[in-house]
Amino acid sequence: ADVVRQKDPAIADVIEGEEQRQQGNIELIASENFASRAVQAAQGSCLTNKYAEGYPARRWYGGCEEVDKAEQLAIDRVCELFGAKYANVQPHSGSQANAAVYFSVLQPGDKILTMNLAHGGHLTHGHSANFSGKFYEVTHYGVSEKDERIDYDALAKQAQEVKPKMITAGASAYPRVIDFARMSEIAKSVGAYLFVDMAHIAGLVAGGVHPSPMEYADFVTSTTHKSLRGPRGGIVLTNQEDLAKKINAMVFPGTQGGPLMHVIAAKAVCFHEALQPGFKEYQKQIVKNAQALAAELGTLGYRIVSGGTDNHLMLVDLRPRGLNGKIASETLDHAGITVNKNGIPFDTEKITLGGGIRVGTPAVTTRGMKEAEMKQIAAWIHEALEGREKPEVLEKIRSEVAELNKRFPLP
Ligand code: PLP
Repeated sequence: ADVVRQKDPAIADVIEGEEQRQQGNIELIASENFASRAVQAAQGSCLTNKYAEGYPARRWYGGCEEVDKAEQLAIDRVCELFGAKYANVQPHSGSQANAAVYFSVLQPGDKILTMNLAHGGHLTHGHSANFSGKFYEVTHYGVSEKDERIDYDALAKQAQEVKPKMITAGASAYPRVIDFARMSEIAKSVGAYLFVDMAHIAGLVAGGVHPSPMEYADFVTSTTHKSLRGPRGGIVLTNQEDLAKKINAMVFPGTQGGPLMHVIAAKAVCFHEALQPGFKEYQKQIVKNAQALAAELGTLGYRIVSGGTDNHLMLVDLRPRGLNGKIASETLDHAGITVNKNGIPFDTEKITLGGGIRVGTPAVTTRGMKEAEMKQIAAWIHEALEGREKPEVLEKIRSEVAELNKRFPLP
């Protein structure tokens, strides 16, 4: 930080300001976390200088002997962590990992059956504004209106009708366990590939608090920066040798050039941390915290989509209280609480406003917060939303939040 200050005070100010923001706010964005200082240091290291197109021991550049070790460690550790036979750790992001999967076995115009973004899916699962929606013929499945959980029977029927070449599973805003065994049965019944994007729940899977997709899916992708708590980036895993070869060719040279070796080293550090016994405890606590927060918000009169959560996140439907996601997230920002507005399945609110908010616990759990703090956070959310027209109420909560955060420093 001192070096940056000497060379570039403007950017040093940004970094310092962001550090203070992260320290002073309660971070409830479900896709965010606080990577360890070791992860950050590896990512900020001299490995950023190295070009290493290709794979360990098969590079197009000289001088790769050290970065080869880093990439091999990342591969070996992530395979151990998820019980996978093959891994590609080079995707620059989750979206790049997903691109590599689609391009590896699909042709433009092929049919894919994917989870609707409005029901919790991700843009890269066939949204019309994304490459996945432009290249392929997309049909969406979603949750049932009755219990707001994935409707596997409807999905099985759709699969028979559509006969897709690939079914995707995984979500950005789905609070329940995903039944990968059932998804695999459905995919097999129509001869489709099953592609599981476990970006949000990868940490939970690694910690054994969500079933693993590894034995069911042809392809598994993830980001490394969400519940897994590593650097920003992506991975692709598979147990099938022929698919692993296709994936390697599709990551490089198919969709990327030189891998980010500093990020790959930071991924290796993250996987090492995730292999330690304490990581399981961390993941268990994430879920306990999410359940405590959801229960308390429910007690305070908020409608939690699907009635609760099995994982690290919940969706809070604010429409019954005459609110929308935009107003709520802006109000909570003033109170030092960070969430994102989110659509609710079968939303009646405009997409730009969102019928609710998505609330997640990976980041606050990293700080060491537990159920008692979740109860307090729920009370603040309620107080802030009720007092949204009163700046003094929001200011008071903001200073209480800052006090609490002092007891739970960033890693
Ligand atoms: N897949 C899922 C399920 C996600 O939630 C996300 C990120 O929000 C991604 C993929 C994309 O990851 P990235 O932002 O690294 O491209």
